[in-house]
Amino acid sequence: MTDKKIPRTGLPPDLRLDTLAVREGLPHTPWGENSEALFLTSSFVHPDAATAAARFANEEEAFVYTRFSNPTVMMMERRLAALEGTEACIGTSSGMAAILLLAMSLLKAGDHVICSQSVFGSTIKLFGGEFGKFGVETTFVSQTDLDAWRKAVRPNTRLLFAETPSNPLTEVCDIAALADIAHDAGALLAVDNCFCSPALQQPAKLGADLIVHSGTKYLDGQGRVVAGALCGSEALVNDKFVPLMRSAGMSLSPFNAWVVLKGMETLSIRMQAQSERALQLAQWLESHPAVERVYHPWLPSHPQHALARRQQSAGGAVVSFIVRGQAEGGPARARQNAFAVIDATKICSITANLGDTKTTITHPASTSHGRLTEDQRQAAGITQGLIRVAVGLEDVEDLKADLARGLDPIA
Ligand SMILES: *Cc1c(COP(=O)(O)O)cnc(C)c1O
Repeated sequence: MTDKKIPRTGLPPDLRLDTLAVREGLPHTPWGENSEALFLTSSFVHPDAATAAARFANEEEAFVYTRFSNPTVMMMERRLAALEGTEACIGTSSGMAAILLLAMSLLKAGDHVICSQSVFGSTIKLFGGEFGKFGVETTFVSQTDLDAWRKAVRPNTRLLFAETPSNPLTEVCDIAALADIAHDAGALLAVDNCFCSPALQQPAKLGADLIVHSGTKYLDGQGRVVAGALCGSEALVNDKFVPLMRSAGMSLSPFNAWVVLKGMETLSIRMQAQSERALQLAQWLESHPAVERVYHPWLPSHPQHALARRQQSAGGAVVSFIVRGQAEGGPARARQNAFAVIDATKICSITANLGDTKTTITHPASTSHGRLTEDQRQAAGITQGLIRVAVGLEDVEDLKADLARGLDPIA
């Protein structure tokens, strides 16, 4: 039982997202700093031995050691929880560490997980490989086929895991429907909200129990740090995740937390501006003769367009497209054309990262999804002609010209 708690900011209730994004955190220190302080300290001092004992015994909430908690990290956690509309949040050293923390805290040998087959490559590696070693079995299902999720439920199913929109095909799953399936089965629903961020989608409002974040992406927003977080109820965060974090130490560094904290202040306007540019680029790509297919949730041609419109407030900044070539020369030609388009760019950064103000371009089949088997890749729809563009804040006309350099010769 914790009697004495770390104080809240004292903000008025019912503030909106844009206000919380710049104001939620911790009260400022006695020095009155206006910009949030960066607490680069591994440990914290106590006024006397009795207080130290009370803090170690959890009778008083206080900062003790940065592996457990840190004021800068807590400011980031409180801000992100406020944006997601969850009671609590815990920062982690990376997005993957958030998934590791989730699984280690909530699952045991004999438990069963149902996971979308379209989740991030490393997430598939964890659920499909590493966790199996500890007796946790995972069934992968189509992200968009609710019947497949329902049929995969077993008596020992504890967790459903989805990512929406997915990487790189922007498949959208029905969060509210998956939450119902999970809860009917006595399981929890976790949603990786990396692509939309809370600025465009709040899975907790649709019934998700846990929200997974890679802070590396849009929360930082400028490609500077690796960070992660898990958002959920106070009961899950305080009783399950915090104790495991104290022992296992996948802790977020205060410096990285500070970068993410300040990044969140511009999250909403970045997500709006980058989504708008992405949609314009997607529309232009759809009309280009060298492009076979374009994936972006705001295009009417997107298979889950209507669902995306209900569930998200904008389409997000990721656009994927298939370059012509497969029909003429098989997968080898498709890959050759995709590489030619990527190599012809002079503005886009050739990197698998996303969520940056700089537009990035990548060939998923040979990078982010390169470690998957060909079967896993086929199941995820990652063909050799596929290119993913994560649109940044450059002028969209310059981005069109950058892609046209490689696409025009193929048309
Ligand atoms: C990048 C990413 C992750 C992993 O995050 P890291 O911070 O790189 O560990 C998880 N999910 C999605 C959707 C991602 O894009």
